[in-house]
Amino acid sequence: MIQEKAIVVFSGGQDSTTCLFWAQKQFAEIEAVTFDYGQRHRLEIECAAEIAKELQIKHHILDMSLLNQLAPSALTRTDMEVRDGKDDELPSSFVPGRNLVFLTFAGILAAQVGAKHIVTGVCETDFSGYPDCRDSFIKSLNVSLNLSMDKTFVIDTPLMWLTKAQTWELADSLGAFEFVRERTLTCYNGIKADGCGQCPACKLRQRGLEEYMNSKKHE
Ligand SMILES: [Zn+2]
Repeated sequence: MIQEKAIVVFSGGQDSTTCLFWAQKQFAEIEAVTFDYGQRHRLEIECAAEIAKELQIKHHILDMSLLNQLAPSALTRTDMEVRDGKDDELPSSFVPGRNLVFLTFAGILAAQVGAKHIVTGVCETDFSGYPDCRDSFIKSLNVSLNLSMDKTFVIDTPLMWLTKAQTWELADSLGAFEFVRERTLTCYNGIKADGCGQCPACKLRQRGLEEYMNSKKHE
């Protein structure tokens, strides 16, 4: 275990909850931060708060409603359909600059609470076309944060090169498979655990879960 403090960017979904368990094993002290940007489903915030409480992790909820004012997307607007991007187009769930803003605020919070590490569940493997999930972006922002505050932050991205199946495997190896499966919210239609099964987020999660379960059977 590293005798340092970490801030985990935490949405209450599968990926960031897995990161929370990962960080608990990794660092002497962790705190979680959730951004309230007018998500379609308030349940997302409640879900995050519940998990943090149960795991006895200090939880910050920051008001980021200004993001919705600038960049309405299918994640915040109920009159917009969530759909996959066709060809070169970005998915309708994309909020331009979201991770830039979130990780910058996570960095400011980290400076305030004396945390060296910032943990985020971004992932390039199942690349859904979000440019600010790319490893090159994260590395670039890490440099910018350090320069802006004269600090030596480390942005940790434990899921960056994992497939969805490998993320389930990681949760399992941390003893958190059932917890992540039952308690997290990934679904765009606001249904916990295995979700609605129809939206792009559910399909991605389900595919990874099936792949992981199958690989276990064949061990
Ligand atoms: Zn769904």
